[in-house]
Amino acid sequence: MSGRYGARRANGTEYALPATALITSWESRALCRHAGAGCFIPPLREEPEGERHARELAAKSVCAACPVRAECLEYALRVREPFGIWGGLNETERRALERSR
Ligand code: SF4
Repeated sequence: MSGRYGARRANGTEYALPATALITSWESRALCRHAGAGCFIPPLREEPEGERHARELAAKSVCAACPVRAECLEYALRVREPFGIWGGLNETERRALERSR
């Protein structure tokens, strides 16, 4: 999968979303459109903690400079994205943010 726009089914398999479903006003300005999806979405295999930490740091460094970070995070919270880095937060951090609201 290349680019940010894949999704993962509940059984863990990945699939690509159709381009027409992806380009919204904020997504067209997403920095991760030009970055590999590898650091934003966890691999299908078991991921060692150190590897996960490094992957998430790489993704978060892209998010930190992204002009649509707030929109991305609100989207992920609204649809309850179960995996990956969205708006600079991983799934655990998003759940904590939801609980704090
Ligand atoms: S905040 Fe991060 S995950 Fe969201 S669009 Fe920007 S770069 Fe992509």
